[in-house]
Amino acid sequence: MLQQRTIKSTTQAVGVGLHSGERVEITLRPAPANTGIVFRRVDIVGAEDIPVRANMVSDTRMASTISSSNAKVQTIEHLMSACAGLGIDNLIVDINAEEVPILDGSASAFVFLLQSAGLELQNAARRFVRVTKPVEVRLGEGKQLKWARFDPLHGYTLKFEIEFGHPAVDGTGQAVTFDYGSGRYSRDIARARTFGFTKDFEMLRNNGLALGGGLDNAIVMDDDKVLNLDGLRYDAEFARHKILDAMGDLYVLGNPLLAAYSAFRSGHAMNNQLLRALLDRPDAWEYVTFERAADAPAGFAELPQAW
Ligand SMILES: [Zn+2]
Repeated sequence: MLQQRTIKSTTQAVGVGLHSGERVEITLRPAPANTGIVFRRVDIVGAEDIPVRANMVSDTRMASTISSSNAKVQTIEHLMSACAGLGIDNLIVDINAEEVPILDGSASAFVFLLQSAGLELQNAARRFVRVTKPVEVRLGEGKQLKWARFDPLHGYTLKFEIEFGHPAVDGTGQAVTFDYGSGRYSRDIARARTFGFTKDFEMLRNNGLALGGGLDNAIVMDDDKVLNLDGLRYDAEFARHKILDAMGDLYVLGNPLLAAYSAFRSGHAMNNQLLRALLDRPDAWEYVTFERAADAPAGFAELPQAW
């Protein structure tokens, strides 16, 4: 059987929120089979648990936020991406502020934390959402066009293409394809950092956003170049980060996907619209488990490679 996964032991991290600039502590705890990923605001008395589901996503401006009736957590996508990349099904996330810490702007610190805690196989089958018919969302035309879609696949691949019309971005690869079954998430995707432009910073700050953002947790660009002195971590780091984000955004489904995802200029909002479009089409997907791990797509049964 292809089994569900949690972590072996509890682990902790401290950092600041990218948008709030607030200091925040998170504790990642093992959880029983079929729990899913659950956020718990430990700083609010009587806060309702927030299970990660597509319909719990309440805000997708600049970051993905999930809410219960009386609590919310924002900027969950990089932690969710690490969980998707390592195939973690069940996890309790205690958090003492409104925003997940940005750490170095990528998912690598979360991967390191989860790997250090150790992955534990559980006595229950992983339940996948298998896409059986194409589903697409599309917005705008010409230079405003953006789209995202799922196509059926016995596996999980993501293809992302960006177009910023910025010399520093255009100088690197604009399109990246990643195959989850390769087991190379930690190495090829997890270290790609979030990015921003100095011309947007003032507007963001005036709106109370990006207060914790800077050169140590983002790639920052002026009108024509990258300002980080140590440059980029990857060829196509920008497009790779969009795949990192998409993996996190799509993992709020609550189940791992079997699908080919492809997108052009998509973002948190459109990725969530795509999930909702899929859920609105019960004829376009089904749940599947693999009683024999050998029937799962190549690479899915193995524990992911570290670095
Ligand atoms: Zn991101």
